[in-house]
Amino acid sequence: MNYIVLDMEWNQPYAPKCVDRAPFPLIGEIIQIGAVMLSDDSGRLEIIDEFKETIAPTYYTKLHRGVKKVTGLTQEEIACGRAFPEAIFDFRIWCGNPCVLLTWGRDDIPMLLDNLFVHNIDAKWITDCYDLQPIYNAQTDGLKQQRALSLAMEHFEIAQEEDRPAHDALNDAYYTALVCMKLDLQRGIAEYGSEGKFDLGGYFTHMQSSLYSGFESRQAALADPKIARVTCPVCGRCMPYPLWVKQSGSKKIALCHCDDHGDYMVRVQFFKGGGGILKACKTIYKATDEVKAYYDEKYEAFISRDPSLARGDEDGDKPRRRRRRHRGGRRKKAAAAAAEAPVLEPANE
Ligand SMILES: [Zn+2]
Repeated sequence: MNYIVLDMEWNQPYAPKCVDRAPFPLIGEIIQIGAVMLSDDSGRLEIIDEFKETIAPTYYTKLHRGVKKVTGLTQEEIACGRAFPEAIFDFRIWCGNPCVLLTWGRDDIPMLLDNLFVHNIDAKWITDCYDLQPIYNAQTDGLKQQRALSLAMEHFEIAQEEDRPAHDALNDAYYTALVCMKLDLQRGIAEYGSEGKFDLGGYFTHMQSSLYSGFESRQAALADPKIARVTCPVCGRCMPYPLWVKQSGSKKIALCHCDDHGDYMVRVQFFKGGGGILKACKTIYKATDEVKAYYDEKYEAFISRDPSLARGDEDGDKPRRRRRRHRGGRRKKAAAAAAEAPVLEPANE
């Protein structure tokens, strides 16, 4: 069995008002993934491989000064990083199947799930995750509190190596792996309490995600049956052509309906892959009332500006930018986003 010890660094918004809240608050954006692969095939845990990627953020592109200070990463380094969808596809392949993810602390896995979600990437491959802290606690002093990795290293007399400074995703994963090798991992996993389990459900129920590439333009992609044809994830029946609303930046959203299985949100996110090739991630997930309200508000904000488009009148004037009176919280952000980017295109044109 292979175990993946994972550590990540993430950027954060400069102020609470900068948090991207569509369709949930994104509190951090991953800018570095480091991982060490452990195998117990020889009867004891051994490091057999390493993985490291620096990632260019798409939501919080300006490196937060606090993150810069801790990680030593620079604006130039992250700007030259890979696109998250590409890096994570490579990571997933590198992890193999099945894979058990191990982290130090409880922050990395939810952050990974959130980032997968905002990039419309399937998360079903993440099935087994364990926080090593409670395993360390149970096998050392039995205390319950959170421990810094440095304390566990001290406990096991693991010295920091000169060429491996801390707060680098790979180096932290490496030190976590060294601590892990001092633990009885199989016993720790067997005794792992249900209260320590990560919630891997939530947003990902009924979610389907696919990656397509080779489109000439975003417009061509939206007209392509691979994107425009949306089938119900439960029964596979074709749902009526979606009306795409620009969500923000490179994302389009639409609501679809199956008579038997209810409403689904479809999201398409565009990004440039290697060689400048246009790629599109298409994701379908169950639309909750909140998600539907979010879509409706954007749609209505747009229609109120240019009712001709509600009737599919293509001769209407291009909608003008107009400030909207802000409302509270999530609705405010949704309305503001719609006001900034009033684009609505029938996908079948
Ligand atoms: Zn259906």
